[in-house]
Order: sequence, then C-alpha cells, then structure tokens
Amino acid sequence: MTLDTPLNVRADLAVRGVRVPTPVRRPAGAGPSDDGHLVIDGRNAALPINPASPYSIDRGKIWLGEIDTGLTLDVVRRPRFYDLTTADGVRYEQIARLHGKDVLATTVVQTCIRYAEEQRCRFCTIEESLRSGSTIAAKTPAQLAEVARAAVDLDGITQMVMTTGTTAGPDRGARNLVRCVRAVLDAVPGLPIQVQIEPPADLSVISDLSAAGAVSIGIHVESLDDAVRRKWMPGKGSVPVAEYWAAWDYAVSVFGRNQVSTYLLVGLGEDTDQLVTWAARLIAHGVYPFVVPYRPVAGAMIKAPAPAPSVVRDISDKVARLLRDAGMLGADQKAGCAACGACGVLQAAGG
Ligand code: SF4
Repeated sequence: MTLDTPLNVRADLAVRGVRVPTPVRRPAGAGPSDDGHLVIDGRNAALPINPASPYSIDRGKIWLGEIDTGLTLDVVRRPRFYDLTTADGVRYEQIARLHGKDVLATTVVQTCIRYAEEQRCRFCTIEESLRSGSTIAAKTPAQLAEVARAAVDLDGITQMVMTTGTTAGPDRGARNLVRCVRAVLDAVPGLPIQVQIEPPADLSVISDLSAAGAVSIGIHVESLDDAVRRKWMPGKGSVPVAEYWAAWDYAVSVFGRNQVSTYLLVGLGEDTDQLVTWAARLIAHGVYPFVVPYRPVAGAMIKAPAPAPSVVRDISDKVARLLRDAGMLGADQKAGCAACGACGVLQAAGG
C-alpha cells in the first residue's frame, strides 16, 4: 500500500501505531483495547503506542522516517478529573476514563458472566483492568454522576459512553444502565449518553434506556460470520444472530435511524467482501457498522496478528461510501463510538 493519501496513512497508523508517550491510555478493558489517545487532524484517534512503529512525532506533525505525512497530531493531556477522589476513597479515574479528547467512558460492571475461559471473547480483557486495580468492579449511579459532573466542569467532555460486562439476568445488564443514565443526567442535564448492551431478552428495556435519556445505543456483534463468532466469541457467539437483528430493529424504532451502532472487527479471519455486504445490510436497517481493526492485546486469550493496513483501508473506504450514500455519518450520531470514531478510520474515510 502506498502512503500517498491521508486515509492510507491513517489506516497504516491504526495498525502499526506511533512512537509517542501518551498520558491518556487504555491498556486493557472491555472489548478490543490497548491504545493511547491522540487527536489527528482534529479528530479523536486511539492508536497502538508502539516503540517499533515507523511513525514518530515532531513539531506537532506525524513523520514516517524523514517524510512529513501532512497529518497533525496532538497528544490528549491527562484530564484534571483524574486527580479527584470520592469521599469513600475511590479515584475518579477508576470510575470513568477519558477517551479521545472529549469522551467520558465507563464500564459500569467490570465483570462478565462470559469471562470463564471456555466462554470469553478471545480479544477481551475486561477483568484484567479490574485485577490490575485500575478500575473497580461496579460503579454506582451516584459515583458516575459525581465523576461526569467533574469531567464536564473541569475537562469539557462533550459526551459519555456507558458499557457493561454481561450480567446473569435476562436483561444482560441493561436494566442497571437505566439507573446509571438517570443519575448522570440528573447531575449533568443534557449530556449526550450512549449505552452499550447485548441484545436483552425483553426488548422493552431498550425503550427504558431511551426514556431515561440515553440518546444512542450500541449493540455490538463484532462479527456476523458464524465460524468467526464460534472461534473468537464462544460465549457471546452462542446468542443467535437473529436476536441481534431483532434488537437492532427495535432499537432503530426507538432511538431512530443512525442512532444505533454495532462494531464489526476487521482481522478475525472473516471474508472481507462478506463483511462489506453485512455492513450494507446493517446500513439498510439504519444501523451504523463501526468498522474497527482487531488489535492484539496483552492478556487476551488469542493474540493473532493485526490485519493488513491495506485491508483496513479498503473496507473502511467501501463502508464509508455506503454510509455517505445512505446519509448516515458517524458525526451525526449524538454520542458513542461512531460519534467519537477514534478506534477506527471510518471518519477519516468520510463515513
Ligand atoms: S471509539 Fe469508543 S472505545 Fe474507541 S475511544 Fe472512542 S468512545 Fe472509546
């Protein structure tokens, strides 16, 4: 792949990372993680921080060896709310973290019923960050409200993402998010919040999340390929894809077209043309397919190679085109990963 366009460079960076110290990092956590938080050409970017990367930073620009890529880069500074502690001694950064320059992200329940070895998603390290002490097992609605208020006041965050490990009840953790959304909005009225859940058995909890004030929702399937789902997500992959379609369609009827999203990971061994076809089908249903390169993470159960940057570029380019044709831009999502865009290159591709 030649590095003659910003999208080519951006896809290459997403896979090979950059050599730069970053104070805001996510070394482990829910889903595919391990990145440092940066701003490239004004957009959020979560990149591998890789001492072996050919990309370096000088005078606020990204260089490939001696070549100026033309992209500007700012490192996200450590937010002020990280220095605060609750009255009962929990550091705010154990409750919620800064993603990109302006997104507050939290995993309200840091354990998952699918974390037993035979069930666990092979790329996920949700409970590793718990073991390392960088977070706490369960965040109360009151704690989330306190941290959100401070993050808005001190650091100007503009939106919040709430995800959860899957719990044992039929709502799979969604009901607890209803309480958390309410508490945060009582403290910070109008803050755009995205919730992220597995398809619940009773879809009406999706309406409850909307009634509580969440403005967008992520229901993340990661792959629609059954062989990939069995290999990489033996627990979560046991949820039939039909349940995802039912939840997506219901969520679109509640939250609206393009306020519902899902992750599609690139690099799990899927057929790339098929992935684009699935993305087209999701878009036809009003669901934003957030295409994200798989990232090998220390502590995950499988450490496969990252996808080729050219594959990430090609898929992102094609899906971005489909999104543009449908008038469904990530920037039009009110909150959430598609709105933030840092973990993929869809926004850089115009999607
Ligand atoms: S895309 Fe989602 S997970 Fe990635 S940095 Fe943005 S909010 Fe966080």
